[in-house]
Amino acid sequence: MLEIKDLKVNIDNKEILKGLNLNIKKGEVHVLMGQNGAGKSTLVKTISDHYDCEVTEGEITYKDKNLLDLSVSDRANEGIFMSFQNPVEVPGVNNSYFLKTALNEKRKYLGEKELDAMDFLKLTKEELGKFDIDKKLLQRDLNDGFSGGEKKRNELIQLLLLKPDLIMLDEIDSGLDVDAIKTVAKVINALLDGNRSILMITHYDKLLSQIKPDFVHVMKNGKIVKTGDYSLALEIDSKGYEIIGKEDETNE
Ligand code: ADP
Ligand code: MG
Ligand code: MG
Repeated sequence: MLEIKDLKVNIDNKEILKGLNLNIKKGEVHVLMGQNGAGKSTLVKTISDHYDCEVTEGEITYKDKNLLDLSVSDRANEGIFMSFQNPVEVPGVNNSYFLKTALNEKRKYLGEKELDAMDFLKLTKEELGKFDIDKKLLQRDLNDGFSGGEKKRNELIQLLLLKPDLIMLDEIDSGLDVDAIKTVAKVINALLDGNRSILMITHYDKLLSQIKPDFVHVMKNGKIVKTGDYSLALEIDSKGYEIIGKEDETNE
């Protein structure tokens, strides 16, 4: 599904990713860990085509296409989804309208029939009902005045409606209580049908223990320096990043 080769990325002319390699196959769950400033968010932002990130070297192949040739909207239409650490607030844009538009953009792109208001309502009822997620968020403006928890819940709504193929979650579990984390895990597990892949950034075992990642990668100074299975996350959770080694810290 996703193949990253020797990726180098600058932000503000400063090299942040320094030759990163990563392979994600269909159906796999990958976790990115690493200390603050390691470049985790930069990686997922680069994949979703965030304007901050300038690719200077390397290749990203997604579904056998050159990802770097795809526009930000084509990436979304091709099934790439990114939940931001700090989602933007868009006052004046109704959440439901935003989602219906995004969904129909994707359907048009894929040559599928667009949903009308009734179809969309039916779909949201169906999908959100499965997980007891409150529909009220849909009637508000996008992220406007959403609490931290509401923003995360809204990301789950987006996931359930857009059903992306490559799901990237940047610390979706931070600041969530145990029940909310359970809901996140339930939604993610329901989406994991063997055809979707996940790349998630997290520091905590609370969510991982419920999702069971296939691979755990540790980033340091713009590279993946260690890859393991779930036990690596457990080791980091108990011993901290010390286990990665203490060679020169060039991060702020
Ligand atoms: P992580 O998610 O692992 O904490 P980030 O990818 O957010 O790390 O950041 C990696 C490095 O890039 C840090 O040194 C950070 O200061 C820098 N950086 C991130 N975003 C910006 C930005 N918009 N402008 C300048 N530097 C940035
Ligand atoms: Mg950070
Ligand atoms: Mg980050």
